[in-house]
Amino acid sequence: METAFQPRLIRVAVPVPLHGGFDYLTRNDMPVATVGMRVLVQFGRRKLVGVIVAVDVQSDVAAKRLRAIDAVLDDSPVFDAGQLRLLRWAARYYHCPLGEALATALPVALRKTRTDKAQSRHRGWQAVASSEAAATTNLSRAPKQRLLLDCIAASGTAIAHSSLLARFGAVTAQLNALEKRGLITAVELPGGLEQGVAGTAPALTAEQQAAMQALYQAGDGFAPALLEGVTGSGKTEIYFQRMATVLASGRQVLFLAPEIGLTPQLIERVRSRFAAAIGVLHSQRSEGERADVWRAARAGDADIVVGTRSAVFTPMPKLGLIIVDEEHDGSYKQQDGFRYHARDVALRRAQLAAIPIVLGSATPALESLHNAEAARYAHVRLANRATGAVMPPINVIDVRSRPLLGGLSEPLLARIEPHLAAGNQVMIFINRRGFAPKLICHDCGWVAPCVRCDAPLTLHGGISRLQCHHCGAAEIAPKKCPACSSEQLLALGAGTERVAGALRSRFPQVAIARFDRDSMARKGRLEAQLADVASGATQLLVGTQMLAKGHDFARLTCVGVLDVDGGLFSADFRAAEHMAQLVTQVAGRAGRAQRPGEVWLQTRHPEHPLLQRLLSGGYAGFAQAALSERREADLPPFGHLALLRAEAHGEAEPMNFLSAAAAEVAQDAHLACWGPVPAPMQRRAGRYRAHLLLHAMDRHKLHPALDHWQQVLPDVPGASRVRWSIDVDPQDL
Ligand code: ADP
Ligand code: ZN
Ligand code: ZN
Repeated sequence: METAFQPRLIRVAVPVPLHGGFDYLTRNDMPVATVGMRVLVQFGRRKLVGVIVAVDVQSDVAAKRLRAIDAVLDDSPVFDAGQLRLLRWAARYYHCPLGEALATALPVALRKTRTDKAQSRHRGWQAVASSEAAATTNLSRAPKQRLLLDCIAASGTAIAHSSLLARFGAVTAQLNALEKRGLITAVELPGGLEQGVAGTAPALTAEQQAAMQALYQAGDGFAPALLEGVTGSGKTEIYFQRMATVLASGRQVLFLAPEIGLTPQLIERVRSRFAAAIGVLHSQRSEGERADVWRAARAGDADIVVGTRSAVFTPMPKLGLIIVDEEHDGSYKQQDGFRYHARDVALRRAQLAAIPIVLGSATPALESLHNAEAARYAHVRLANRATGAVMPPINVIDVRSRPLLGGLSEPLLARIEPHLAAGNQVMIFINRRGFAPKLICHDCGWVAPCVRCDAPLTLHGGISRLQCHHCGAAEIAPKKCPACSSEQLLALGAGTERVAGALRSRFPQVAIARFDRDSMARKGRLEAQLADVASGATQLLVGTQMLAKGHDFARLTCVGVLDVDGGLFSADFRAAEHMAQLVTQVAGRAGRAQRPGEVWLQTRHPEHPLLQRLLSGGYAGFAQAALSERREADLPPFGHLALLRAEAHGEAEPMNFLSAAAAEVAQDAHLACWGPVPAPMQRRAGRYRAHLLLHAMDRHKLHPALDHWQQVLPDVPGASRVRWSIDVDPQDL
C-alpha cells in the first residue's frame, strides 16, 4: 500500500537580516523534522543553514509556491525549547532577526552546511577497585603506577588519557600495566570534556561564611546576587562552594568569564577542585572542540561549562546555577551583528530556568550596583582579602610640565627602583599597544594619517612601521615628511613597546616582559611569559588591559598606570566608569600575598572630581558619585538608551538618514532623540559614520519605537546607500 505524499510545512529561521521565519516543505523521503533541528534550505540563490522554529504552521504563501528543504541536518534538536525561548526573547530585545541570533548562538562548526558529525570520543581510564582496595594494593616497586592509580581512584569517575599525559608526562606504559593488573579499565569519554579531580576547599573566613549564608538565603529559584569583593577577597572560592552544592545535586553549572579573565590559572583551579566533567569554551579552542563541548553539554554529560561570552547560549538541560565572573567586563557585550550582552542574557536565562545566578566583581557595573541598591539583587560584600593582605594605597603623580621618558615620569621611575632592588615585581599599565600613537613632523606639524580613517597611524617596531588600529592598514614609515621634506620626524606619545624600551635602558639588568595583542599573537607565548612571571624570572611587566585581571602575581608590589586622563575626558559617558574599574583592577594585582603593595597613577588632572572620589573613597565612593551624575543626566541605569548607527561612503548620507529616523519617532512624548551627530571618529575604513541616541525613562517605551524603525527605515529615501544597525543598551559610544 502506498502512502500519499505528505509534505510537512515547516517555518525556518535563516541567518539573513530579515525578520520573520520562512516557510518550506519537507519531503517524505526525509527523516522527521522537529522544532530546534537544523535544515539546509535554498534561500534566493544561496544555500543556508536554518533552524526550524515551528512545524505544521499555516502559511501565508500558497502551497504550490513553497520550496522543499534540501536536507535535515540533525537527528535531534540542536536547540531545546528552553534555548529557543531564551533566544526568541534575546532576538526581540536586541532587535536582531531570529535567524541571525540563532546562528550566532551556534558553534561555528554547526553553522556550516553539512550534517552534524557525531560527538567525537576519546579514551579515558576509570578505577575498577574501590579506593580502599586500590590503596592496599602493593605498588611500592612501581611508584608512577601508584601515583596514577591514586589520582584515578580519587576522581571517582573516568579521567581522560590526554589529561593524564598532560599532568604526568609519558605514562601510557604504566596505565597499560595498571589495566593488566585489573586495577583500572579503559572507557570512552565524550570529546571536548576534561575530567577534573577532587581538591580540598579551604575553610571559609567568617566574612566568606556570611556571604555563603546570604547566597543560600536567596534560595534555589531565580535569585540574582551581586557578589562585590576586592580582588583577592575570595570570590572564586565562594563561587566554587556554591557550585559544589549544585553539582552534588546532579545539576549543571555555567561559569562565564571575560575572554581576558579566562586564564589558564582559572581553568586549572576548576580542574583541580571538582571531580566533574568540564567543558571549556573560548576563542583559542578549535571549531571541532567547541562543537564537542556543545554536544556534551546538550547531552547533559558536561557538569561544568566554563566559557566566554557566547557560552551563555550553551544548551544545558540540567542547568542549576550560573556564575558571571567580572560581570562589569566590556567583553560580555557583542559589538556587531547580534549585539547581546552576555550578563543580561544570563540573567534572563536564570529567570526562565528559575535558578540562582551570581554576578561577581571587584568593580561592579553601575547598572548592577543600582539593581542591588534597588533590592532587585541580593548584595553580598567581601571587604577584606581572604589571605589577610591589605589593598594597596593609590597615589597620583602630577606629570604636568614634567619630561616623560618613554611615557614614564622621573618620580615614577624612582618609585619603581626600590621594588626591583628588593627582588619584587613591578607592573606598568598602558592601554595602548605599539611604539607611539603618532608620527609627527617637527618642522611643519604633519601627522601620519590613515587615508581611510580620521585617525593617526600608530608606530610599530620602533619608528619603522605604521599601522592603523581601526582599519588594519599598514605601511612602512616615511623617512622624510611628505609635506615639507624635513627629516625631523618624531614619535609622539608612548605605547607598550616604547615603555618597555625605556624601562630596558633604565634597568638593563632586569628581565622585562611585554603583554599586548602584538606580543601575544603567537600561540603559547602568553603561557610561557606567565610562567616566567610566576617563577620570578621576569621582574618588570608592561602591558595593556590584558594584564588587568585574572592573573595572580605573588611577588607584585608596585603598579604604575600611565594614562588615566583618557577616561576623564571622553565623549563616552561610560569612560570614567571604565577608567575607575581599570585602576581598581590593576591595583588589585599588587600586594596579593604578604608583601604590601603600592599604586601610582600618572595624570595631568590630579584635581578632577571623579578621580578624587576614586582616590578618597575607592571604587565604591567613585560609584556613588558617578551614579548621582548619571541620575542628574537621566543616563543609564536611570534612563535607557538605544543607539542607531549609520555609515555610508558619502559624508551627508548617514546624517540625512538619521534625521529621517528621528522624524519617525518625533511624535512620541516618552522618547527623546539625542543627535544625530557624526561619530567621534567620523570616517573609519573609508566610510562616514554617524549615530542617533534614542532615550526613554521607561525601558518599555523604547521597544515599540525600535520596532517601528525596523519597519520603516528600509524605505526612507537614501536608505539603500546606508548601512545601519540598532544597538540596545549600547556600551561604547
Ligand atoms: P577573588 O576571586 O576574589 O580574586 P580568590 O578566590 O581567588 O579571590 O582568592 C584569593 C586568594 O586567596 C587565592 O589564592 C585563594 O586560594 C585564597 N583564599 C580564598 N579563600 C580562602 C580561605 N578561606 N582560606 C585561605 N585562602 C583562601
Ligand atoms: Zn613636515
Ligand atoms: Zn584606518
